[in-house]
Amino acid sequence: MPIDRSFRSTWRPVGTHAGHSVWSSRDHVGEVIHGTRVGVHWTSCTGCMRCIPVCPVSVFKVDRTDDGLPVVDPEREEECILCYACEMVCPVEALHVERSGGSPETLEALLHSND
Ligand code: SF4
Ligand code: SF4
Repeated sequence: MPIDRSFRSTWRPVGTHAGHSVWSSRDHVGEVIHGTRVGVHWTSCTGCMRCIPVCPVSVFKVDRTDDGLPVVDPEREEECILCYACEMVCPVEALHVERSGGSPETLEALLHSND
């Protein structure tokens, strides 16, 4: 299942991890999202690592869920330059990067035109 793109307004921060927020929602029991500027839905991340080499500023680090499954963590999300390359390569839409400038609707349409 893809990340809830509205999580910044509809989920709540329940803790921190490696300097960023961890989010949960009563409507998505058991699911967590790591990061705010760069959100990674750990519940749907498959640990494929495709987002790591495409990030020009090395935002992501390999981590593991409590169940020992590989995921990526946006440890350096404050360095993100909003290029959206990670979103474009993620095969399961586990990532959502904050929108900035222009029309959010246009950007969503461009990024997900092949959905
Ligand atoms: S949007 Fe670009 S800079 Fe930001 S985390 Fe993704 S790949 Fe890295
Ligand atoms: S590309 Fe998507 S599924 Fe693959 S490691 Fe990154 S966030 Fe997880």
